[in-house]
Amino acid sequence: MTRNLGISAGSATTLSAELIAAGFLREVEGLTREAGRGRPPVALEVVPDARLVIGIKLSDALHTAVLTDFAGTVLANASQPTPDHRKSVENILTEVSDLIAALLANADRSLSEVSAIGAGLSGLIDHNTGMVLWSPLLDQRDLPLGPALQQRFGLPVFLDNDANMLTLAELWFGAGRARSDFAVVTIEEGVGMGVVLGNRLFRGSRGIGLELGHTKVQLDGALCRCGQRGCLEAYVADYALAREAATALGRNAHNLQSASVMLDKLFAQAKAGNVSARTIFRRAGRYLSLGLANVVQLFDPELIILSGERMQYDYLYAEEVMAEMRALILADGREPCPVEIHAWGDLVWARGASALALSAVTDMALGEGWAG
Ligand SMILES: [Zn+2]
Repeated sequence: MTRNLGISAGSATTLSAELIAAGFLREVEGLTREAGRGRPPVALEVVPDARLVIGIKLSDALHTAVLTDFAGTVLANASQPTPDHRKSVENILTEVSDLIAALLANADRSLSEVSAIGAGLSGLIDHNTGMVLWSPLLDQRDLPLGPALQQRFGLPVFLDNDANMLTLAELWFGAGRARSDFAVVTIEEGVGMGVVLGNRLFRGSRGIGLELGHTKVQLDGALCRCGQRGCLEAYVADYALAREAATALGRNAHNLQSASVMLDKLFAQAKAGNVSARTIFRRAGRYLSLGLANVVQLFDPELIILSGERMQYDYLYAEEVMAEMRALILADGREPCPVEIHAWGDLVWARGASALALSAVTDMALGEGWAG
């Protein structure tokens, strides 16, 4: 524990005492204490019943929630389909109320037993204030979604960008547990990224997080949904591929289907040998390799985890894409940064949101920030 936290043994002892006093940690009985200099090492464990929290992933087709105990164990989950159109805060509040009601019914628990809610959605989210500056799910900019949820449920609510949420899931429960510096790149409706530096999620100075999807890979390039041109997302995300898919599949603008249906057809065509369909994925993969190479040059992570719904399209991480990424990085004689593909479902993202709530609950109880 001391080594992983990078703090002195004395600080760890003080911190442990506070956590034990707060009812969050307990000493494990039945273990032999070693003799020797200084305080003997003590085995501690998290008290699972100390707190319950809810983690939520909001999406354009399905909202997902988990109820977890203080050890991060999932006690119940629930999901609710949602119509695919931009929503008002009032719409979202109603949908989240239904989702939480279903979750608590599944767990046979009441809202009064819950200490906090963590929630994530795509877009520009100010983690510090709970403001959604922009999200593809909402019909307006600058909406105080965090405070509105807090008022509705009478509980502390912590909002974050969905890529950060998945990064927390990897940090707390996944491949990130064994690593202090890594990046998670998500490819879904857009391209997102979370970065862990020195065991902590790095949110930047304003608490909004990092926007890999809107780093520029081409001057005066393709139009991005953010309004600017040449963003990585404008070459890799759903809508970028769908834009070209209509041409490759021979469809006109009047019978365009949803991006995901069209992409599935495009992928099937590429697998069947359709050259223009292959070219579209190949081009997206080349731009992705450029984006990943930039991540390595900027952050020097131990590992990049690629995740998100689009990982079902293996063209995006084909060996040639990885080789292209390596070719764009100054090697300096070092081992290349490994890339792992984690095709998690929405439950894992929601679990990341519960980690956000658990970390905040711990901070509140201790009156200062030290966790996660
Ligand atoms: Zn953009």
